[in-house]
Amino acid sequence: MKTRFAALAALAALSVGTACGAQLLPKDTEVWTPQPPIVAAGGEAGAAPADAVVLFGGQDLSEWVATKDKGPAGWTVDAGALTVNKAAGNIETKRSFGDYQLHIEWRIPADITGEGQARGNSGLFLASTGGGDAGYELQILDSYQNPTYVNGQAASLYKQHAPLANASRKPGEWQSYDVIWRAPTFGADGALVTPARATVLHNGVLVQDGAVLAGETVFIGKPKYKAHGKSPIKLQAHRDPSEPISFRNIWVRELAPAQ
Ligand code: MG
Repeated sequence: MKTRFAALAALAALSVGTACGAQLLPKDTEVWTPQPPIVAAGGEAGAAPADAVVLFGGQDLSEWVATKDKGPAGWTVDAGALTVNKAAGNIETKRSFGDYQLHIEWRIPADITGEGQARGNSGLFLASTGGGDAGYELQILDSYQNPTYVNGQAASLYKQHAPLANASRKPGEWQSYDVIWRAPTFGADGALVTPARATVLHNGVLVQDGAVLAGETVFIGKPKYKAHGKSPIKLQAHRDPSEPISFRNIWVRELAPAQ
């Protein structure tokens, strides 16, 4: 009796579905087009995929200029690495970018000295909006056993978001950032429409999860936005006296604007 009742109930349920003319099937929720583009991945973790713009592949600074005068970037290339020249100042990409995915590797020298913000300080400006340090800074610092304010340690979005974890490696070891940058958008009147967002992995560890920025990075006071379009990516020559840090394997993939 029980079995017969179950069978009748199942039949009733089926007839309700068909009576409405909308019997749902698994394939109704399958999406087949458009197909994501096929991109040949790099051969090892961090290697540039086929559609990336290589900003520094170990050979030269042809993709970079000095921020202050747009002349040649005066940093040092040696043995496949790019080392900060603090006297030469910040450098930035010749190209401008909107939304993107970026990979960059950096190394604090093994013999680093100093403490707090004066120990291996540099920075990745996710969009450079002018001279000097104008833009949105993802902090680079030796944060391996080097306390400082948490919204200024390595992998912080400087003075806005502390990282979710401290994934810092020891000085002398190469480290990586992988960044998804969603640039802010502005209306024709210059008013902010959507704020910037950044997702960051530090040595493969999620440290910023779609963090929303309140404006450009400022050292003193509250951040605020000013309208801008596509922008260069900038690296910081911080004026602290500690030994200069190095970079390698920098590449970027432009992304379609977020929906
Ligand atoms: Mg910095």
